[in-house]
Amino acid sequence: MEDIALNIRRIRERVADAAERSGRDPDSVLLTAVSKLHSAEEVEEAAAAGITDVAENKVQELCAKQPLVKAGLNWHLIGHLQTNKVRQIIGKVKLIQSVDSLHLALEIDKRSAAAGLKTDILIQVNAAGEEQKSGVAPELTEQLIREISLQCSNVNIKGIMHIAPFAEDPEDVRIYFRQVRELYERIGALDIPRVGFETLSMGMSGDFEVAIEEGSNAVRIGTAIFGARDYSK
Ligand SMILES: *Cc1c(COP(=O)(O)O)cnc(C)c1O
Repeated sequence: MEDIALNIRRIRERVADAAERSGRDPDSVLLTAVSKLHSAEEVEEAAAAGITDVAENKVQELCAKQPLVKAGLNWHLIGHLQTNKVRQIIGKVKLIQSVDSLHLALEIDKRSAAAGLKTDILIQVNAAGEEQKSGVAPELTEQLIREISLQCSNVNIKGIMHIAPFAEDPEDVRIYFRQVRELYERIGALDIPRVGFETLSMGMSGDFEVAIEEGSNAVRIGTAIFGARDYSK
């Protein structure tokens, strides 16, 4: 059995150390617990240990788990989102972190309008150009954001999400975190309607300290909180 509360305490210490190394307030980094393939009970344990934000990568799993969790939490969607599933999650999540096309943003806009809501999103950037991963290329990111801003009046763009390539040594992917932070700062300084950057979501169990050192203010941690995922279930 994983000691979820202990794991969270340890992660918080490491987050704080990394924030201090980069000259920032430890409280400025949001720790989001990634609960995919873990139970509602485990989410409750994390909430009891002070977690305020949880993330799922599949719409179906999020919609099934959320009603089972009594703790009031902010839910995030961090996985690839198909347009035909958008309707199911509008109003259920604080932030959709994985928007990488105008097509998807238009559907979020349409469903948000129908529900009388505005939806906050992040743009997922694929800095390493990995073909198996979603995300927009860095050089196309500003253009995508301008198009969404022009065409989606019920969507607010709150920042950027990035998933680094897998690396045994997280130093090997520091360059991508740095590139994405530079992109985040450059685009965030532009004056674009409905764009108000506040979240740079980078860093997972294996690389979050390097991501924070390079400017991340939101880390997404699964394994280091809940233990290994059982994909056979
Ligand atoms: C699963 C997942 C995570 C968490 O990964 P761990 O290595 O278990 O911390 C973070 N971000 C995304 C987008 C994920 O799908």
